[in-house]
Amino acid sequence: MDRQWMYADRRSKEFIDGVHYFLRVAEANRQRGFICCPCNKCKNQKEYSASRTIHFHLFESGFMPSYNCWTSHGEQGIEMEEDEVEDDNILDFAQYVGFEENQTDEEEIAADGNDVADDLGQMLQDAREDCESEKEAHKLDKMLEDHRTSLYPGCDKAFSNLLKLVKNILPGGNKLPETTYEAKKIVCLLGLEVHKIHACPNDCILYHGEEYENLEACPVCKALRYKIRRDDLGEVDGQLTKKRIPAKVMWYFPIIPRLRRLFRNKGNARMLRWHAEERQQDGMLRHPADGS
Ligand SMILES: [Zn+2]
Ligand SMILES: [Zn+2]
Repeated sequence: MDRQWMYADRRSKEFIDGVHYFLRVAEANRQRGFICCPCNKCKNQKEYSASRTIHFHLFESGFMPSYNCWTSHGEQGIEMEEDEVEDDNILDFAQYVGFEENQTDEEEIAADGNDVADDLGQMLQDAREDCESEKEAHKLDKMLEDHRTSLYPGCDKAFSNLLKLVKNILPGGNKLPETTYEAKKIVCLLGLEVHKIHACPNDCILYHGEEYENLEACPVCKALRYKIRRDDLGEVDGQLTKKRIPAKVMWYFPIIPRLRRLFRNKGNARMLRWHAEERQQDGMLRHPADGS
């Protein structure tokens, strides 16, 4: 359901056509003969009997923000697209941290072992630079060495095959990663945890905290928490037949692990503290920050 047109240029064809489509939907869902106006001034708080008025308001002020699901005009929730499956993949971490399957051959790693794309290596390196005890330093040196050394050429592929083999031996439904890439994805999430929090499609609330986490619909706009399936078979023996897909998900990267990761490297930590510790504050302008 692409409704980007709602917030497009109000002179554009997509907006003009979209408003006519919206008015047809609104006409078909009049409440006691009235239609709520979702314009940026009325914000669904006022209703009119003439759709002409709403037509005029929409061109004058545009739609109110975040009115993605037309809950005041007959819609109950977001409908699922045909062939839609839940996107359970964590962002494409291959892009994110710069590795792809079969990309850890030794020649990929820069001579100083400081390949920026090599997140795990960088993390070990940082930890090595900062550690205080001799014993710990030795352990990290060993880990770094192991990390940089492929067991033998093509071992990533062999590791993938081994993972597949072990996965087949383990009981069904086991959570063992299937490829080297999957396995790395898990490792690279260290220190970069993500919390996925369901949200109202119209951005009214997050399904988070005691009051909201178990609700099935938004208490403000009544939009359903999960997408509506056209082929919904409901529950069979108390079990949902298919996995439900949330209408909207917010990705939350907790700040504390990220700060910890940023400050783990002494060099970065010094730069992060620069404004507080090293910036000269003598009333002279010498840095862009002095102008603020
Ligand atoms: Zn209005
Ligand atoms: Zn809502």
